[in-house]
Amino acid sequence: MPHVLPSITALFFSTLLLLPAPLLASEANSAESPSAIVNECKRIGNKLGSVSTRECLSHQLQESGGTSVTGQAIMIKEYPPLAAREPKARILLIGGTHGDEYSSVSIIFKWMKTLDIHHSGLFHWHVSPLVNPDGLLQRPSQRLNANGVDLNRNMPTPDWYKSTSAYWEKTGFDKRRYPGTAPLSEPESRWLYEEIRTFKPHAIVSVHAPYGVLDFDGPPVGPNQLGQLHLHLIGTYPGSLGNSAGVQHQIPVITVELPHAGIMPSEDEISRMWMDLIRWLRLNVPKEKTTRAYATFDETSKQLMASPAVDTGQQTKAPAAAAKAAATEAEKSSDIHMNSRIDN
Ligand SMILES: [Zn+2]
Repeated sequence: MPHVLPSITALFFSTLLLLPAPLLASEANSAESPSAIVNECKRIGNKLGSVSTRECLSHQLQESGGTSVTGQAIMIKEYPPLAAREPKARILLIGGTHGDEYSSVSIIFKWMKTLDIHHSGLFHWHVSPLVNPDGLLQRPSQRLNANGVDLNRNMPTPDWYKSTSAYWEKTGFDKRRYPGTAPLSEPESRWLYEEIRTFKPHAIVSVHAPYGVLDFDGPPVGPNQLGQLHLHLIGTYPGSLGNSAGVQHQIPVITVELPHAGIMPSEDEISRMWMDLIRWLRLNVPKEKTTRAYATFDETSKQLMASPAVDTGQQTKAPAAAAKAAATEAEKSSDIHMNSRIDN
C-alpha cells in the first residue's frame, strides 16, 4: 500500500462509501448471505405453483443462522415491534416442516404479504415459511429431512427414546414417521427449538396439510375455527412440536392442517383464516402460564433431553421385540393418545 493514494483510487473509495449500506456490507463479506437467499428463492419459485421467485425475494427474508442437513438456509422474516406501541405478544409462524406439504409453505408467503402491508406492531412476529428446505427442494419433495427424519417427531418430549420408538413400532416402522436417533438429532429441529428458547414466543402457529382441521396444544383451549377449519384435537405424539412446545413448555401451539397439500385455499379463505387467527391471538395471548414456564425452560428441556439409563440412543434401532415391549409400556402412559386416522 503506497503512502499516498493516487487520486483516482481515492476517488474510487470515496465513491464506494456513498453506496447504500447493504450493498457495501454484502461486497465486504463476499456476499454469502444474499446469494443463499436468492438461490433458495429461485428454487422455491421453481417448485411452488403459487409462489414465484420474485414474490419470495420481495419479502426480503433473512438467514436465521440455522441450516438444513445439506446446508440450505432456514430463512426468517421479522416483523419487529414498532415505535408507537408495545407489542401485545411474540408470535412464531412456521410452515414446511414436512417438505411434501406444499400449501403449508405457500400460505405463509400469502400471509407475509398481508403482514408486509398491514404490520401494525400489535404483535412481534418471527416468520419462517420453510423449516425443512431439503424436504421441499428436491425431486420428488418428501415429508422427511435429508437424513430421512420426521422433524415433527424429533422434538424433545418426555421419555423420548421409549415413546417415539413405541409409536414408530405402532406405525409398522413407517419410514415416513422415523423419529431419528435422539431428540434434536437434526439441525432443522435444533434450530426450531433454539428459536423457541431465544425468541420466547407466546404462541406458535405451525402449518401442515392435508387433514383439513385445526389442532391445538398448550394452555388452555385453541380457536374453534379459522376460516372453514374447525378445532379437532388430533392427539399428542411423542416428539411432535405440539407436545414439546405446547404441552411441555406451555406455549399455545396452533397446528393448522390445510385441506390439501397440493391445492391452495381460495384467496377469501386465506384471508378469513388470517383474520380469525389474529382475533384469537388478540384475545388469548400472552398467557400467564406461558410466561411462567419460560423461567424454567432450560430445566424442563434438560429433563426432556435426558438419555435412557440403558442402551443410550439405541432405542429407535431396537429389534422389533424390544420395540413391541416399549409400545405396550407406552400405551399405558396417558401421554400418548393418538387418533389413528389423523397423523400430522
Ligand atoms: Zn405435516
